[in-house]
Amino acid sequence: MSSPEFHIAEKNAAAEHLEHDAAPPVLGQRSTRQRKLIYDILKATHEHLDVESLYRRARDIDSRVSLSTVYRTISLLKEAGMVDELIFEDDRRCYEFKNGNGYQHHHIRCLSCGDIVEFQTDYARQLRDKVANEMGFTVESLKIDVSGYCETCAKR
Ligand SMILES: [Zn+2]
Ligand SMILES: [Zn+2]
Repeated sequence: MSSPEFHIAEKNAAAEHLEHDAAPPVLGQRSTRQRKLIYDILKATHEHLDVESLYRRARDIDSRVSLSTVYRTISLLKEAGMVDELIFEDDRRCYEFKNGNGYQHHHIRCLSCGDIVEFQTDYARQLRDKVANEMGFTVESLKIDVSGYCETCAKR
């Protein structure tokens, strides 16, 4: 049996900084500074943040940000297809800008330390082609989310 060809995706090492480009229309006609801030944070980071950590980060910059604003903004960006929601085995939800790291990738999450690692695999493309051919589907997305224990946590 041949071992799967997994490639751990390279993270962009560039320092994270908030780019203050124009607010996308999806945030609303009078999009608030707070919504825009959450958008900027999500857009700039290469991490996969859950609502709590997104909230904490936004609060560090602007103390007027409320948890409901975070939820509302995420739901708007999600509906607009700008943000991907990752739902893991234990129902933990994390968010990332669509193809934020610039490539199609999948995720493995450690159930113990919460670490999320991205990977790429040719199998995904093969599966996609197979489904397209055999089911006659035009495949729009295919996600592989893996949960388990990382090497360090598995040793404990
Ligand atoms: Zn771990
Ligand atoms: Zn990712």
